[in-house]
Amino acid sequence: MDILSSRGPRSSERANEIRAQVAAALALNEEATVMVSELACMEEGCPPVETVIAVFRSAKQKLQFRMHCPMAEITAQDIEEMCAQQVDSSSEKSHGSCS
Ligand SMILES: [Zn+2]
Repeated sequence: MDILSSRGPRSSERANEIRAQVAAALALNEEATVMVSELACMEEGCPPVETVIAVFRSAKQKLQFRMHCPMAEITAQDIEEMCAQQVDSSSEKSHGSCS
């Protein structure tokens, strides 16, 4: 079952765009996999929907980003900043945010 299919084609198109932008920003090769999903966040002070981006690279640590907004609101700049932070620091940040 594809949960995203219930949201219509627009959502998966956006996910594809985000995947491509993340791959470009992190200079990923073909072996890497990027997963983009929208999740409900239960933490206090968080918006109801956040976008989780996971990057799986062979022989490297998995990366996971959380953006505090639906994927429709994520801009290319958000992705660039998010990836730049992740490249700078090895510690995983649990929460990102949208400008
Ligand atoms: Zn949250």
